[in-house]
Amino acid sequence: MKTRRITKLMIETERTFIFRNFGGQRPGWCVGCGAETQLTTVAEAAREAGLSELALYELLDDGALHFREDEEGRVLVCVNSLITEINTKGE
Ligand SMILES: [Zn+2]
Repeated sequence: MKTRRITKLMIETERTFIFRNFGGQRPGWCVGCGAETQLTTVAEAAREAGLSELALYELLDDGALHFREDEEGRVLVCVNSLITEINTKGE
């Protein structure tokens, strides 16, 4: 039986995180915010935040980020919660 090892990476983030306007964002209702926000795919959210997709999924799993599914069942991340999460890291 093979054991798969997952190496946790130490991820340093800038204290002030400026979210650029990038492609793939779409407006949508976020239940977590209770408001209309911008939503984006996990891959794009990870790239913009400078995190691996795995790290991003862990944040989703922890409930640190808001998300919803689109019509095709893809996970869309609430950009609002992503900015809040990144900006409060390390404080
Ligand atoms: Zn939200």
